[in-house]
Amino acid sequence: MANADLMDKLVSLTKRRGYVFQSSEIYGGTGSVWDYGPLGVELKRNIKDRWWSAMVHQRDDIEGLDAAILMHPRVWEASGHVEGFTDPLVECTSCHRRFRADLPEIEAGQCPTCGTRDSFTEPRMFNLMFKTFMGPVEDSSATVYIRPETAQGIYVNFLNVQGAARQKVPFGIAQIGKAFRNEITPGNFIFRTREFEQAEMQFFVKPGDDEEWFERWMEIRMQWHVDLGIDESKLRFHAHGSDELAHYAKHAYDIEYEFPFGWKEFEGIHNRTDFDLVRHQEYSGKRLEYIDAPTNERFVPYVVETSMGVDRTMLVVLADAYREEEVEGEARVVLGLSPSLAPIKVAVFPLVKKDGMPETAERLSAALRAASIPSFYDQSGAIGRRYRRQDEIGTPWCVTVDGQTGEDGTVTVRDRDSLEQVRVGVDHVVAWIREHLA
Ligand code: ATP
Repeated sequence: MANADLMDKLVSLTKRRGYVFQSSEIYGGTGSVWDYGPLGVELKRNIKDRWWSAMVHQRDDIEGLDAAILMHPRVWEASGHVEGFTDPLVECTSCHRRFRADLPEIEAGQCPTCGTRDSFTEPRMFNLMFKTFMGPVEDSSATVYIRPETAQGIYVNFLNVQGAARQKVPFGIAQIGKAFRNEITPGNFIFRTREFEQAEMQFFVKPGDDEEWFERWMEIRMQWHVDLGIDESKLRFHAHGSDELAHYAKHAYDIEYEFPFGWKEFEGIHNRTDFDLVRHQEYSGKRLEYIDAPTNERFVPYVVETSMGVDRTMLVVLADAYREEEVEGEARVVLGLSPSLAPIKVAVFPLVKKDGMPETAERLSAALRAASIPSFYDQSGAIGRRYRRQDEIGTPWCVTVDGQTGEDGTVTVRDRDSLEQVRVGVDHVVAWIREHLA
């Protein structure tokens, strides 16, 4: 399948089946903002829940936080974003579209939209932060920024969390939240958007221990993606050269995936040194030092950051799961999502609408709902068509109540990938699904 085709197919499938909709579509859409529909919101939650479990619940050295989006404007001066969070921007004098000056087409001298050659304005620096006003007066003293990353909310709360949770360095703070960037050239569906979600963890260590922790976090984070079921041959690290390093970073590695449009970053691991905490000390006039209990040694910790885009990870998961194949002489589309990520875990079908089959199937559906297992009941159309509709959205198991159910109390459980069918007692389906989800 051609790569461009795959993106088109994903956009259309995810819209049709309720994963992703364009924001404000009835008004012609908002530039690069997307809404997650009934299945999309489940997939996204499942990704975030797995991240939270691995980073917070399964560790005793990381605490959670949910900091506000709006922060004191000085935060963004201290962080360097007011001054430095800029991209060079050029405008095509023919079609008046604006682009990042470092796009390959622009560097080659051709407008990506209208094709006109060598008709660009001089590059001008453009700050990517959205601004708004706080309070009733709209003047510059009321300007606040809408956060472009979640990390700063963690830094300014570093001592609050450390003291309240009685953590000792090394320890981390994890947060999932929205971030906003007025990207000049957004695109590729949910890959680069103007509103997105980040799952970030800042790990505070003693200076000198940073390199070791950096390596440890690289390994842990890569393994997490492998455990999501992502094809390992499509995952790699990319080290930032000195020309790519952000102003705060000593070392940075991206975790990249081979998207249909090429190898691109979807998580960054950064050694941010003591840059952010030292700057916040300077700008706030408050000490942000850690005091080591037995020795009374004071220091500003170094920070190793893991920063994952939730929406980009969702695109990785969807692109990696999509496949087209022929089974039993018929073409089918499958989202081979790992069962723990699939929005719907099990579909329930009566084979036909008679002989008590719908009643048994409905009782099973009710039992699944009572067990909080996301399920879907479908009694319309040929059984093959019902299977295909579930394959296409990634449902791992379909349970069918058939003629034999009335005789021996068993149903068939069909596996999405192997197509194998096993018979399970109807009263054991909930336990069977739980066991296979674990
Ligand atoms: P890029 O170079 O692609 O703009 P970045 O290096 O600026 O990304 P970071 O600031 O390191 O990205 O942000 C960490 C993560 O947040 C990225 O790996 C990505 O998954 C996500 N992210 C950043 N910008 C966007 C965006 N505009 N849309 C969606 N996700 C984003």
